[in-house]
Amino acid sequence: MKKSVFLLLGLLIVKISTKAQNQVFYGNLHSHTSYSDGSGIPEDAYKHARDVAGLDFMAITEHNHERAPSKIQTNPELYSGSIPVSLISTAKRYTENGRFVALYGQEFSSISSGNHANVLEVNEVIETSEVKNGAWNDLLDSWLPSHQDSQGDKPILLLNHPATSSSPNYKEYGIDDYSGDRSAWLNSIDKYAQLINIVNGPSHRSNKPPGKPSESEFLRYLNMGLHVAPTADQDNHLENWGSAADTRTGVIADNLDKASILSSLRNRNVFATQDKNLKLLFRVNGELMGKIFDSNELPATNSELDISIEVSDSDEPYAIYKIDIYKDVVGGDRAKVVNEIDLDGNQNVSIDGINFEGKNEYLFVKVTQTDDDGEIIDHAWSAPIWFSGSSNAPLSSAVELSLNVDPFKEEATITNIGDVSIDLKGWELISEKGNQTFTFKNSKKLEPSDFVVVTSGKNAKSGNEFIKWTESFIWSNNSPDKGILKNESGHVIVTTE
Ligand SMILES: [Zn+2]
Ligand SMILES: [Zn+2]
Repeated sequence: MKKSVFLLLGLLIVKISTKAQNQVFYGNLHSHTSYSDGSGIPEDAYKHARDVAGLDFMAITEHNHERAPSKIQTNPELYSGSIPVSLISTAKRYTENGRFVALYGQEFSSISSGNHANVLEVNEVIETSEVKNGAWNDLLDSWLPSHQDSQGDKPILLLNHPATSSSPNYKEYGIDDYSGDRSAWLNSIDKYAQLINIVNGPSHRSNKPPGKPSESEFLRYLNMGLHVAPTADQDNHLENWGSAADTRTGVIADNLDKASILSSLRNRNVFATQDKNLKLLFRVNGELMGKIFDSNELPATNSELDISIEVSDSDEPYAIYKIDIYKDVVGGDRAKVVNEIDLDGNQNVSIDGINFEGKNEYLFVKVTQTDDDGEIIDHAWSAPIWFSGSSNAPLSSAVELSLNVDPFKEEATITNIGDVSIDLKGWELISEKGNQTFTFKNSKKLEPSDFVVVTSGKNAKSGNEFIKWTESFIWSNNSPDKGILKNESGHVIVTTE
């Protein structure tokens, strides 16, 4: 009798301690104050995020390049000085274990020089005398390796708002800084980039929703072989830190303290959500999302994966869920939905019938939550789980192009971001609004990393990388006008977002 009571007690304790390790904390990894181009001072921001928005953590990430403008670049005391109003002093004061974690960081680069990335928790300003604006190779290969974060660890990089209209894919996050060697770039950036932002904003605007999710860019970067978890951040420039939207970055951590939050970010135990308290846990073979199975940890080829998904929302117990499971092998086509299930209310389910192929593959989950009256639809995306696979060839050998349209310059840029050469002869570029079509009548070869710019409007030019379409205006700059690129057999290869 005594023995069985003791056993029961043992079981109970085990159960409680596993639960404590799966706490979900909600926050925002991107915001500004007047120390760059935002409002207020760090104290206002952390206080608002904690007390008004109810966040568990928030990062203030000031621009580092002068023209942003960046007061931390011209006066680093505001970042790391011992004065009480410095960003780091304030973050230390506002970090209170179990209550709130105040993170600090810098938003590196400018949009036209390869877009932005947040460098979290490093105590020195990235000075432009050391790393020129947009010199991603210097950041990745010399500055980051010679700096540690507040935990004495490798700094964490968050790739911000991919597919911003003036950030072309062929430059984004420094891919053009490696003389066309994409695997060198991938190797450098993958060491630091644990996170990529999938929902951003509302940024400078008030009373506006955040931007459209950049899910297709998330899929594109995963397919290139990056190991990044999705985040949903607000990029606040006004005094609405964390309260400008319901979007949150969810972090699964043991405790609410700085070491635990940073460790979970580093391990990509992260999801992005448009609902402020949706909980999403995704596990494969007992490992939490974000895990990379090394070559010595791989399951047997063709064995069934043990997949479990927990989704819940404490204030919407009657919500309806659609769960899409995406799976992909790096390279070739992007991830596709391989299984779809519908759920009613809070659930913990396991998924059968998905096998490990023995390749360089990954899986992740997208959740669509509809509230009980069918009105509010929110999405959430889990970090993937990766299997490093037997082959060590992460890059695509398939046709992969990007299309960017600048409606003001009347320029459509097509870039070969794959690693095979492509001839555009017979391909069509279409402006959806007005349905104008340009056909590539002659051979136009694009080697990997090459690009061509199709020009229109009264300044349309030709020669070198430019091809003149027409002197008429093609692209609408006051309403959405999608660009579509079709191959010679009429298949859509890429569109603008
Ligand atoms: Zn930015
Ligand atoms: Zn920003």
